[in-house]
Amino acid sequence: MKLVLLGAAGSGKGTLAKKITRDFGIPQLSMGDIFRDIAKSGSELGLLVQKYMSSGALVPDQTTFEVLKERLFQDDCKKGYILDGFPRTLDQAKLLAKVTDVDAVVSVELPFEELEKRLVSRRNCPNCGEIDNTEYEGYTGKCRKCQTPLFQRDDDKPEAIKARLEVYKKNITPLINFYGDKVFTVSSAGSPDETYRPVKTFLEKLGAK
Ligand SMILES: [Zn+2]
Repeated sequence: MKLVLLGAAGSGKGTLAKKITRDFGIPQLSMGDIFRDIAKSGSELGLLVQKYMSSGALVPDQTTFEVLKERLFQDDCKKGYILDGFPRTLDQAKLLAKVTDVDAVVSVELPFEELEKRLVSRRNCPNCGEIDNTEYEGYTGKCRKCQTPLFQRDDDKPEAIKARLEVYKKNITPLINFYGDKVFTVSSAGSPDETYRPVKTFLEKLGAK
């Protein structure tokens, strides 16, 4: 089962992906994790990615795609995967379509005011990529996995959030149109389990086909 997960930052799509992985046994391929892994690998492509990341520049589409292509054909992806963070634009979706046909697209939706609220309290681990939130129970300012002190990404600061959400809004409609009737839309206004329930039903039907 090859899935694409769409949703703005703060929509809870990462949490949703983890539940899908748990129940359906397909890995979550998050572009952020893939970039971090390949940068550490020291390969030629990895060094290139490292260069973009350390300069703070966006990794260009073509490079992103080369990196992803390598990942999609690794052994753990034989049963499928969940793509999280790619494609973000129509151009990227067209690149992806050159190597694979996805089975379904799950689009996680939440009103922008709610996204903004969730994002300003978000904190990241610089070491392992874990995400936490100052509003969550048991928040200590340190990573729950590796104990590294957390930080707030520059693009999670209020002035940057509005700009990011505007970019998301501009790109999402062409993407939804591109995938057409493969798209399943779900609201993440409720709890993570409430968000997951209809998605699970949808995926079970899809898997049974
Ligand atoms: Zn950590």
